[in-house]
Amino acid sequence: MSQTADTLFSKIIRRELPSEIIYEDNLAIAFKDINPQAPVHILVVPKTVIPQLSDAESQDHALMGHLLLTVKRVAAQVGLTNGYRVVINNGEDGGQTVPHLHLHILGGRFLKWPPG
Ligand code: C5P
Repeated sequence: MSQTADTLFSKIIRRELPSEIIYEDNLAIAFKDINPQAPVHILVVPKTVIPQLSDAESQDHALMGHLLLTVKRVAAQVGLTNGYRVVINNGEDGGQTVPHLHLHILGGRFLKWPPG
Protein backbone atom coordinates (compact mmCIF):
# COMPACT_ATOMS: atom_id res chain seq x y z
CA MET A 1 0.00 0.00 0.00
CA SER A 2 1.30 3.43 -0.91
CA GLN A 3 -0.14 6.39 0.93
CA THR A 4 1.95 8.91 -0.96
CA ALA A 5 1.27 7.88 -4.57
CA ASP A 6 -0.37 10.62 -6.59
CA THR A 7 -3.35 9.64 -8.70
CA LEU A 8 -6.12 11.22 -10.70
CA PHE A 9 -8.41 10.62 -7.74
CA SER A 10 -5.91 12.22 -5.32
CA LYS A 11 -6.22 15.34 -7.47
CA ILE A 12 -10.01 15.19 -7.17
CA ILE A 13 -9.68 14.76 -3.39
CA ARG A 14 -7.41 17.85 -3.28
CA ARG A 15 -9.83 19.78 -5.53
CA GLU A 16 -7.18 20.11 -8.22
CA LEU A 17 -9.56 18.48 -10.69
CA PRO A 18 -13.26 19.30 -10.87
CA SER A 19 -15.81 16.70 -9.83
CA GLU A 20 -19.33 16.51 -8.49
CA ILE A 21 -18.77 15.47 -4.90
CA ILE A 22 -21.68 13.69 -3.25
CA TYR A 23 -20.20 12.82 0.14
CA GLU A 24 -16.93 13.22 2.01
CA ASP A 25 -15.52 12.33 5.42
CA ASN A 26 -12.02 11.98 6.84
CA LEU A 27 -11.44 8.58 5.22
CA ALA A 28 -13.35 8.60 1.94
CA ILE A 29 -14.92 10.67 -0.79
CA ALA A 30 -17.76 9.92 -3.19
CA PHE A 31 -18.23 11.71 -6.51
CA LYS A 32 -20.13 11.24 -9.76
CA ASP A 33 -18.33 9.18 -12.40
CA ILE A 34 -17.36 11.40 -15.32
CA ASN A 35 -18.50 8.73 -17.82
CA PRO A 36 -21.67 7.26 -16.27
CA GLN A 37 -22.65 3.71 -17.22
CA ALA A 38 -26.07 3.96 -15.54
CA PRO A 39 -28.44 6.79 -14.53
CA VAL A 40 -26.62 6.82 -11.19
CA HIS A 41 -22.88 6.09 -11.27
CA ILE A 42 -20.86 7.19 -8.26
CA LEU A 43 -17.34 6.29 -7.18
CA VAL A 44 -16.43 5.79 -3.52
CA VAL A 45 -12.70 6.32 -3.04
CA PRO A 46 -10.46 6.06 0.03
CA LYS A 47 -8.40 9.18 0.68
CA THR A 48 -5.33 7.05 1.28
CA VAL A 49 -4.02 5.50 -1.93
CA ILE A 50 -4.37 1.75 -2.11
CA PRO A 51 -3.71 1.07 -5.81
CA GLN A 52 -6.09 -1.87 -6.09
CA LEU A 53 -8.06 -4.25 -3.89
CA SER A 54 -5.36 -6.91 -4.09
CA ASP A 55 -2.95 -4.45 -2.44
CA ALA A 56 -5.12 -4.06 0.66
CA GLU A 57 -3.59 -5.45 3.83
CA SER A 58 -4.84 -6.41 7.26
CA GLN A 59 -4.10 -2.89 8.50
CA ASP A 60 -6.73 -1.67 6.01
CA HIS A 61 -9.44 -3.80 7.62
CA ALA A 62 -11.37 -0.92 9.18
CA LEU A 63 -11.05 1.23 6.06
CA MET A 64 -12.47 -1.57 3.90
CA GLY A 65 -15.50 -1.81 6.15
CA HIS A 66 -15.84 1.95 6.11
CA LEU A 67 -15.88 2.01 2.31
CA LEU A 68 -18.74 -0.50 2.16
CA LEU A 69 -20.73 1.41 4.76
CA THR A 70 -20.05 4.58 2.76
CA VAL A 71 -21.52 2.87 -0.29
CA LYS A 72 -24.66 2.09 1.70
CA ARG A 73 -24.85 5.65 3.02
CA VAL A 74 -24.34 7.28 -0.38
CA ALA A 75 -26.83 4.95 -2.10
CA ALA A 76 -29.46 5.93 0.45
CA GLN A 77 -28.52 9.60 0.13
CA VAL A 78 -29.14 9.60 -3.63
CA GLY A 79 -32.37 7.61 -3.31
CA LEU A 80 -31.40 4.20 -4.71
CA THR A 81 -34.30 2.51 -2.94
CA ASN A 82 -34.83 -0.20 -5.58
CA GLY A 83 -31.36 -1.69 -5.45
CA TYR A 84 -27.99 -1.02 -6.99
CA ARG A 85 -24.73 -2.75 -7.90
CA VAL A 86 -21.32 -2.30 -6.29
CA VAL A 87 -18.30 -3.04 -8.49
CA ILE A 88 -14.58 -3.12 -7.81
CA ASN A 89 -12.46 -3.58 -10.92
CA ASN A 90 -9.14 -5.08 -9.88
CA GLY A 91 -6.11 -4.99 -12.14
CA GLU A 92 -5.81 -5.41 -15.88
CA ASP A 93 -8.18 -8.32 -16.43
CA GLY A 94 -10.65 -6.68 -14.07
CA GLY A 95 -10.73 -3.67 -16.37
CA GLN A 96 -9.27 -1.26 -13.82
CA THR A 97 -8.03 1.96 -15.42
CA VAL A 98 -7.30 4.20 -12.43
CA PRO A 99 -4.73 2.75 -9.99
CA HIS A 100 -6.46 4.06 -6.85
CA LEU A 101 -8.96 1.69 -5.24
CA HIS A 102 -12.55 2.72 -5.92
CA LEU A 103 -15.99 1.20 -5.56
CA HIS A 104 -18.49 1.88 -8.33
CA ILE A 105 -22.12 2.37 -7.29
CA LEU A 106 -24.36 1.76 -10.30
CA GLY A 107 -28.10 2.16 -10.20
CA GLY A 108 -31.22 3.85 -11.44
CA ARG A 109 -32.05 1.07 -13.92
CA PHE A 110 -32.14 -2.75 -13.99
CA LEU A 111 -28.59 -4.05 -14.42
CA LYS A 112 -28.06 -7.21 -16.42
CA TRP A 113 -25.91 -10.08 -15.18
CA PRO A 114 -23.19 -11.06 -15.86
CA PRO A 115 -21.30 -7.86 -16.73
CA GLY A 116 -19.23 -8.00 -19.92
O1 C5P B 1 -12.70 0.71 -12.46
P1 C5P B 1 -12.02 1.65 -13.37
O2 C5P B 1 -10.59 1.97 -12.96
O3 C5P B 1 -12.10 1.29 -14.83
O4 C5P B 1 -12.85 2.99 -13.22
C1 C5P B 1 -12.34 4.26 -13.35
C2 C5P B 1 -13.50 5.17 -13.43
O5 C5P B 1 -13.07 6.49 -13.18
C3 C5P B 1 -14.19 5.18 -14.80
O6 C5P B 1 -15.55 4.79 -14.64
C4 C5P B 1 -14.04 6.62 -15.25
O7 C5P B 1 -15.15 7.09 -15.96
C5 C5P B 1 -13.87 7.35 -13.92
N1 C5P B 1 -13.20 8.65 -13.97
C6 C5P B 1 -13.81 9.76 -13.40
N2 C5P B 1 -13.19 10.97 -13.42
C7 C5P B 1 -11.99 11.11 -13.99
C8 C5P B 1 -11.35 9.99 -14.58
C9 C5P B 1 -11.99 8.75 -14.55
O8 C5P B 1 -14.91 9.66 -12.88
N3 C5P B 1 -11.43 12.32 -14.02
